[in-house]
Amino acid sequence: MQDQHQHRHLHPAVRLDRVGKRYDRTGAYAVHDLELDIAPGEFFSLLGPSGCGKTTLLRMIGGFADPTEGRVLLDGEDVTGLPPNKRNVNTVFQSYALFDHLSLADNVAFGLKRRGVPRPEIRERVGGMLDLVQLGHLADRKPPTLSGGQRQRVALARALVNRPQVLLLDEPLAALDLTLRRRMQVELKQIQREIGITFVFVTHDQDEALTMSDRVAVMNRGRIEQCGTPEDVYERPATTFAASFMGTSNLVPGTYRSGEVLLDQGPALPVGTRAGVPDGRRVNLSIRPEKIWLSDFEPGMARAAGTVRETVYSGPTTTYLIELAPGVTVSVLEQNTVRSRREDRWSGGERVEIAWKPEHCLVLD
Ligand code: ADP
Ligand code: MG
Repeated sequence: MQDQHQHRHLHPAVRLDRVGKRYDRTGAYAVHDLELDIAPGEFFSLLGPSGCGKTTLLRMIGGFADPTEGRVLLDGEDVTGLPPNKRNVNTVFQSYALFDHLSLADNVAFGLKRRGVPRPEIRERVGGMLDLVQLGHLADRKPPTLSGGQRQRVALARALVNRPQVLLLDEPLAALDLTLRRRMQVELKQIQREIGITFVFVTHDQDEALTMSDRVAVMNRGRIEQCGTPEDVYERPATTFAASFMGTSNLVPGTYRSGEVLLDQGPALPVGTRAGVPDGRRVNLSIRPEKIWLSDFEPGMARAAGTVRETVYSGPTTTYLIELAPGVTVSVLEQNTVRSRREDRWSGGERVEIAWKPEHCLVLD
């Protein structure tokens, strides 16, 4: 799908060329010197904590905010300074304000009517779009009679019916409860695949970003810390921030020395030689909880000993908190496959050995 698009289009759907934004001339940058290309048809997510600049970035792409530096290009055309209605972009905001006095069909038809699209065409496009979001049977209802998930789908249909080149979505699922959010994630992704529009999706939910996106940009303080496929950013986080924000990670501070990280108070943990990390460098050793083994070790694994401090059973998995040295605790996630009975699992105070494959352990600045 994406390959076809890339052959047809010469330009990225969205290009941010050294874009910066300060709300206050002397203040901090909400978005700083940011460079980014988003390919046509891509599902691209901006992930980061509250206040990191996600909404500001989206508003600059949509034309709701002007950058103080740099340029915004859509399909190769410089649109910096153009108002929202002069851009082939639609936005679904977090609070999807629908018109309560209009039917769903009229809500979705609103933009097309304003643009003077002929009536028969409006009827056809609105019908098709309501079917796509599975609300065709409710076309005559009014928004107040709908559930949160249904209203969200109306907002989506209302944006998509305009056939924008790019759809911007600012935490569109944040107001929904967990079950509904999971279902909407799947539906949204399906719709995006079917119509092939470029999605720029803002979220602070890492699971959402991982499951939905072709690529994810992890943002921190107005900058992109890392940009890549979900697997890239999860398996190979480039920075301590990316490792801690994207999923749970054990971050153990210490000093790197010839293939080991020396904890400040405790043992040296083998990590294998690391190109580019000089001896004596302060680092964070990062390992995902599910990458640590508690038994059936294989040759070549790095090992360490510790004391179980806590055992948290959660159905399919158990999480152990294991203290390697005073104040240094790692979390280990194990499937409840072999040790499925309580008496088979470790409990507080027991000494255990843990192990990991050297390639699963990252040494971050
Ligand atoms: P996010 O969407 O990631 O939570 P925002 O883009 O809303 O982040 O905000 C980024 C930074 O810019 C924050 O420090 C925020 O306080 C500031 N900011 C956002 N909007 C405005 C505004 N209209 N005026 C002044 N500062 C703003
Ligand atoms: Mg925001």
